[in-house]
Amino acid sequence: MDDFPSGRASFDPPPEAAERVWRQVVDLLRDERERTAGRDVSAPVDVDGLRAAVGAYDFARPVAAREAVDGVAELLRAATVHTTHPRYFGLFNPAPTLMGVVGETLAAAFNPQLAAWSHAPAAAEIEAHLLRFLGGRLGHPPERVAGSFTSGGAEANLTAVLLALTRTWPEYGEKGLRALPGRPLLYASAESHLAWLKIAHATGIGREAVRLVRAGPGLRMEAARLAELVAADRARGDLPFLVVATAGTTGAGVIDPLHDLAGLCQDHGLRLHVDAAYGGAAALSDRLRPVLDGIERADSITLDAHKWLSVPMGAGALLTTDAEGLAETFRVTTSYMPDEIQGTVDPYTSSQQWSRRFMGLKLFLSLAVAGRAGYAEQLERDAGLADALREGLAATGWKIVNDTPLPVVCFADPGDGTWERHEALARAVVESGRAWISPVRLDGRAALRACVISHRTALADVEDLVDAVNKART
Ligand SMILES: *Cc1c(COP(=O)(O)O)cnc(C)c1O
Repeated sequence: MDDFPSGRASFDPPPEAAERVWRQVVDLLRDERERTAGRDVSAPVDVDGLRAAVGAYDFARPVAAREAVDGVAELLRAATVHTTHPRYFGLFNPAPTLMGVVGETLAAAFNPQLAAWSHAPAAAEIEAHLLRFLGGRLGHPPERVAGSFTSGGAEANLTAVLLALTRTWPEYGEKGLRALPGRPLLYASAESHLAWLKIAHATGIGREAVRLVRAGPGLRMEAARLAELVAADRARGDLPFLVVATAGTTGAGVIDPLHDLAGLCQDHGLRLHVDAAYGGAAALSDRLRPVLDGIERADSITLDAHKWLSVPMGAGALLTTDAEGLAETFRVTTSYMPDEIQGTVDPYTSSQQWSRRFMGLKLFLSLAVAGRAGYAEQLERDAGLADALREGLAATGWKIVNDTPLPVVCFADPGDGTWERHEALARAVVESGRAWISPVRLDGRAALRACVISHRTALADVEDLVDAVNKART
């Protein structure tokens, strides 16, 4: 018999009742851990059935805690693409680390408010310590690293644009874009993550202010071509202000030539942001770190811990050495917020968010327990599995169409290069339930995309994927 109280008393049930729910959750997670690999990675969803099942919770009649937890778990099991599955070779969504899940739980339970340092000194210092660690690995002097945890890469990239506008035109903050003598432009590869369009929309520079530069050989944005564009735009009276390099494109995992682009920015008086939402994780491995060479020259960097660093969503980060610029961009004072304490920074005055969740704890605990070396081992293992995948695909007649040291494998059917063909192949693999991959367009050409992102993926899973795509082809 479940004597878990309902109604208002459920907010804080007696300890024995609370413990029973926790045990139920622990059992449920163990069960999921054991059974996920044996299930399909994803399954078709009956939308009407799903809505009816969700709608059955009308909140008029309280549901027993045990029943509610079981019911929700059932919904999630049936109607989710299982990014925790070892054969999820999808977008940059990882299977989370156990310590990451524990960190989320502790963060939720303590619920520190990180808006003001004085409300959450421990949490604020843990996040600042992590940012210095990450910034240091990326090549910034740790003592000068500033930044913040963000909901994800999109918010971090938005922060970079706000910072760039504020630093380039000090009048932007008070008077807005109207005070500028022309039209600000930012440049990113056509292969970049298109959050830039939404950011341009939101900041008021407008979507047309994003110059998407067609990628050159190897799907990389070429500095020489970019220099020509910048010169032509300037001649027309426009105001180029920011170059975005991508370290690990979403489609093909390609790293733009960071030193070349940094040099171009230096020569032309432009700011450089490196969007390393996915690829920045490589900085934790001494062996992989050289692939990011040049990233240390960026004015700001985006890194998502909820991608290749395998913590639960959402945990992005914006890193810079320009603490003053951030303070200028997000400055505000109110009578109702606690006063800033000497020698500390209140996160609400240096980032977009106000009330702030303790996002860093899941990464802190994961890193503390795995150690940097544990992370390095995992990242290098993923890179090795991707090599095995490339070999398996090439050996069975597929054409590998991207070139990257990161574990993103794009491959095409040499006999039929159409989008329809590749979309149908991806659909067949997904519908088989054996694996999850996606079709992708790279500089307009169709391909299939498989990313090794789960720490649960083993060589047998890679072999299974090769078999699944070959079955789909016949
Ligand atoms: C995922 C990604 C983003 C967006 O990050 P979110 O965490 O989804 O907000 C931006 N840039 C790149 C290169 C990405 O891979």
